[in-house]
Parts: sequence; C-alpha cells; structure tokens
Amino acid sequence: MKVYIQTDIEGVAGFCFQENRADPGIECVQHRYRMYKLLTDEVNAAVKAAFDEGADEVFVNDNHGRGYNILFEDLDERCQIIHGRNGSGEQWMAFLDETVDCMLQIGMHAMGATACSIIPHSRWEVNDGEFYLSEGTMAAAVAGDLGVPSVMMSGDDKICAEFREKIPDIEQVQTKKALSCYQACSLIPARACKLIYEAARRGIARRHEIKPFVVKGPVRLRLWDNASHVPPLSPLGETIERPTITQAEKDYFPANKKSLPWYNGPSTNMDGFTFP
Ligand SMILES: [Zn+2]
Repeated sequence: MKVYIQTDIEGVAGFCFQENRADPGIECVQHRYRMYKLLTDEVNAAVKAAFDEGADEVFVNDNHGRGYNILFEDLDERCQIIHGRNGSGEQWMAFLDETVDCMLQIGMHAMGATACSIIPHSRWEVNDGEFYLSEGTMAAAVAGDLGVPSVMMSGDDKICAEFREKIPDIEQVQTKKALSCYQACSLIPARACKLIYEAARRGIARRHEIKPFVVKGPVRLRLWDNASHVPPLSPLGETIERPTITQAEKDYFPANKKSLPWYNGPSTNMDGFTFP
C-alpha cells in the first residue's frame, strides 16, 4: 500500500503567524524553527500511522512556502520526502498517481478571505463562482481525478468545515479553533499528534469506504488572492477552461505567468535560485 501525505504549516497546532522570512532577528528565527518542529512532529505522527496500518511506501510532500520546511532528519526513516523549491518541478504533487492508495493532509488552512481563520489564502473559483476550493480541497480534487481518496486531514475549524462539506466521510483533527486570523485556541502539540495518529489510522483503514473527491469537468478555473493575502482579493490572471480540474490547475500558472510575478515555472536548468 502506498500513502501520500500532503502538508502545509498554517493548520498545525500552535501555529498562529506566518513566519517573517526577511527578519534575521533571534525571535523570528526561533519562531520559524519551532513551527518547523511542530509541523515535523505532526507529519511524523501521520507517517507512523501509515506504516502501522500496513503501508509499504509513504511519500511526504513538503508544500508550504518555499517547500523546505519539514526537519526531514527527524522524520521516520521509512518514508520519502518531496521537498525543495516549490514550483520548479513539473508537478505540484510529484509521485501522486493512480498507484497511490490514499492521501492524508496535515496542517491545512482555509481558502483566501475566510473570516476568522488562521492565515487564509488562495481561493480557487470554479465555474465562475459555482463553488470555491482551498489549496487543500484542490489537492483532494487532483487526487480524486486519479481515483485516490482523501481519507484524513487536519487544520483549524474553518478548513475542517470546508472539507466536511465536500468530503463528508473524511476523518479529521481540528487542531485549533481560530479566534482571529492570528489567534487561536489550540490543542497542545503532543495531544494533536496523538489525535492525528489515530485519525490517520482510521482514515487509511476506511480507504475503500471514502469516495475520491471528484470535480466533474469541463472546469473553468480562476485563482483569487494578492501578495499580502489581505482582502479584498483580486483574480490573479484570467479564467481558463480545461476538460479536468487537474489539467486546469496544472495549466493555470503557466497560462497566467504575467499576473504571477513570483512564479518562475518548471525548469531543469539552473537560474541562480538561492535558499532561503
Ligand atoms: Zn502554507
């Protein structure tokens, strides 16, 4: 059995603020490192659950920001991690294919402009406003096109509600209740990890019962956000129409390159990128 773990950081228990990458001050560096550690522990709980439930292969996708957040030296040595400069590879979710048995999602955040949710951003408008997807449910839809069910997710109360609306059977861990966009009543990390372990095991065990989340094509797609994520959001580029949501998501960024100054696109050649 192959299990895919999609990750982000905003939904992790204890996370309230976006890191300030430009600030080299001790408080900021320490804060960033603590958030990486909290994320790593939650991901590890999910990895352990997958192997204890019988997985042979587990792929972790480190998907927040620059794609290099998880302290992989502390991860269970049996898994493999996909990480490094986000968007420079061909695929958003590399190694997610029809051979994957189910997907888990750790640390998810609400879609852009969701009131009272921790650092909400990215709002995918589907079919001119018929409905909207967050990054998390977009990942679930891409998995759904491959017949892969999303069986478990974690994050704040708002993203949990969105997932429940679209995938009512999914196992969930509400890691915190948002009190504003930067304040929450959170589980203590050790407790969150225990609950994530248990929910991941339940979800994987129920992988044949939980239907893949499928968005029927053709799909008209448009992304709403802005550089600060502060509402009002605007469309980042033009609406595109494709036969499937996977194709629409894949083509959206290259098709709208002019409106996305931070987007470089996939490349097999070096272009001078340095980290951080
Ligand atoms: Zn993120």
